[in-house]
Amino acid sequence: MAAIIDGKEFAQRIHDFVRAQVWQIQQDAGQGSVPGLATILVGEDPASEVYVRNKGRKTREAGMASFQHRLPATIGEDELLSLITELNHDANIHGILVQLPLPAHINSDNVINAIAPEKDVDGFHTRNVGLLGSGQKAMLPCTPLGCTLMLREHFGTLKGKNALVIGRSNIVGKPMAQLLLADDCTVTIAHRYTENLIDHCRQADIVVVAVGKPGLIPGHWLKPGAVVIDVGINRIIQDGKTILVGDVDFASATTIASAITPVPGGVGPMTIACLLYNTLTAYCRIHQRPEPEETGFTLAQGIGQLREFREAS
Ligand code: NAD
Repeated sequence: MAAIIDGKEFAQRIHDFVRAQVWQIQQDAGQGSVPGLATILVGEDPASEVYVRNKGRKTREAGMASFQHRLPATIGEDELLSLITELNHDANIHGILVQLPLPAHINSDNVINAIAPEKDVDGFHTRNVGLLGSGQKAMLPCTPLGCTLMLREHFGTLKGKNALVIGRSNIVGKPMAQLLLADDCTVTIAHRYTENLIDHCRQADIVVVAVGKPGLIPGHWLKPGAVVIDVGINRIIQDGKTILVGDVDFASATTIASAITPVPGGVGPMTIACLLYNTLTAYCRIHQRPEPEETGFTLAQGIGQLREFREAS
């Protein structure tokens, strides 16, 4: 049976690390100086409302300031762009997140590219996309970053692994492939027009699936021992109840894979944790403090500081 990669536990570790770092910032710079995250929600999509509420709650739990902006679906693009300009200049705000999707009359690219790149904690600004693609220091998109951290922890090094990314969206598939390439994997990207997907799956040591189709990948498509990261979130009705499932057929995949992320409890919690981590990183870059290192929450390095914070709080 495959090992279950526990995204919830890993996300808690990142959360604790960020909390301790925020505490340290307050010791150094005064109680009032904390990283601030602004979220913008346009319209009343119920799923987006839940995501934004959770992000705000987690931000506050990490000791950071949360500024939530709710705008009607009828808002004009110009008005939204003016709000972003205001937030770009607000010294209390270090991260800006616009919840996607936006209503059809608003051009998402214009909106994302209006965010100051150093406050673009989603990593979707064209500048951050270019920095990632050219191997420079970028703000990394939260979901692919979370997937990469789980894979690094599982394997130690990803060097030389055959990695298959299924899905080529700008928010998951493409940056995921870039991150795996940066970690020296041999990367294949599959999408809706890929032929013989099963053959690509059979070659892959790592399979990251971000499509949005329940049961797309059955266990027998996998190479024995593969490590599977299931990004998909699908609501299905089972026995009269709505449940969440991924894109991979979990029951059959666990008999073939060596490790797999569950849905829920895998990639989802890591995405929010990485948003907190990015907001902290943005604060440190803006205030020219040493950047938090990922090793702080993967190795014991951050533990001493965490203990100090817990004793003090
Ligand atoms: P998207 O719709 O933008 O992209 C889907 C991709 O899947 C496309 O590139 C398309 O070419 C590809 N695709 C479609 N059918 C396919 C097929 N039969 N075979 C291979 N590829 C196929 O979606 P997205 O925004 O990238 O999200 C994908 C999934 O991940 C969704 O279920 C979404 O809810 C989930 N998601 C989860 C998180 C998280 O935090 N866990 C974050 C973002 C997205």
